[in-house]
Amino acid sequence: TNEEASAKAAAASAESGAPTIFDKIIAKEIPSTIVYEDDKVLAFRDISPQAPVHVLLIPKLRDGLTELGKAESRHGEILGHLLYVAKIVAEKEGIQDGFRVVINNGQQACQSVYHLHLHVLGGRQMKWPPG
Ligand code: C5P
Repeated sequence: TNEEASAKAAAASAESGAPTIFDKIIAKEIPSTIVYEDDKVLAFRDISPQAPVHVLLIPKLRDGLTELGKAESRHGEILGHLLYVAKIVAEKEGIQDGFRVVINNGQQACQSVYHLHLHVLGGRQMKWPPG
């Protein structure tokens, strides 16, 4: 399908080191609603929210992390920080009692932007298993 072809193209382009839309968000070249920021990570509202709270959390430096599957030992610190900040974001958003953190990895998991990102979702009853 067209969708599969464009997902494949996005993955191939990211693989080559090309910037993604998230680089423009980090550079503030395109506007986003930022909910948390420090020197290493940025959290902003998803443009197409799938829950009342839907925040994307990304490392400012991609450093090879097009997807979680590319993680190496040296990424341990930033990966840990991202999970910790997911909890901070949940608290800031008032969903600390019930929230979900999702990482879509690769085409089969519907990853569409090849710059590692955590989805922090909440504010409604979640279902399991996810789709
Ligand atoms: O996990 P996946 O790669 O599918 O998630 C990408 C997310 O980035 C989507 O939820 C999409 O709505 C979001 N997005 C965004 N702003 C953009 C482009 C994508 O919030 N400009």
